[in-house]
Amino acid sequence: MTGIAENLRRVQARIAEACTAAQRSLDSVQLIAVSKSFMVEDVREAIAAGQRSFGESYVQEALPKIEQLADLDLDWHFVGPVQSNKTRDIAAHFDWVHGVDRARIAQRLSEQRPANLRPLQVCVQINISGEASKSGCTPEEAIELCRAIATLPRLRLRGLMSLPAPSNTDENPRAAFARLRELFEHIHAQGLALDTLSAGMSDDMEAAIAEGATLIRIGSAIFGERNRQTSE
Ligand SMILES: *Cc1c(COP(=O)(O)O)cnc(C)c1O
Repeated sequence: MTGIAENLRRVQARIAEACTAAQRSLDSVQLIAVSKSFMVEDVREAIAAGQRSFGESYVQEALPKIEQLADLDLDWHFVGPVQSNKTRDIAAHFDWVHGVDRARIAQRLSEQRPANLRPLQVCVQINISGEASKSGCTPEEAIELCRAIATLPRLRLRGLMSLPAPSNTDENPRAAFARLRELFEHIHAQGLALDTLSAGMSDDMEAAIAEGATLIRIGSAIFGERNRQTSE
């Protein structure tokens, strides 16, 4: 008894409460269930409970799951850092990619996106808390990268994505989400058609929704704690 269906209902209730508090409509927030490190059986359980969008961070781990569930109508979001030697698999197997942070990666994804699939939906990852170690482009670089992506034929620019600052900083998570939202509004005002703010995880989804997140990426609150550390 893993309780995934029950966890999903709890997460949906949290989303509904956060939307009410923020005076937003419930359908303005989409839930991505981040299934990294969990098995295809766990994903099936979430599907049985009505979930259709899933996120994965490691290509090698994701591909067998995507393949085994290929007969179902699901959306797969690649939410991990995009390495250039993984772009071909990402372009061929995912519907969305959230971690694009440089033009070269965007170019490869566009070149490698198969012609029979709809354009790959792209979010630009922003290093909003300015840590040296983190992936993501700087807020200053973001507009140029968004412009470049908007010209690529096999990509569709959708919005911005950020990860939370590490818990050892004492910044209010909401302040970082607010900066991401301001950057989104700034880029939007320059004429780029963004409609997606990908922000918020299990511990900070309420703050993200309060600051306008439209896609939230939830792992442990649905599937449980991850004990295996996967990498590639
Ligand atoms: C793992 C992961 C998540 C989910 O994190 P939880 O804290 O388990 O909800 C969300 N986004 C990204 C990019 C991740 O790698």
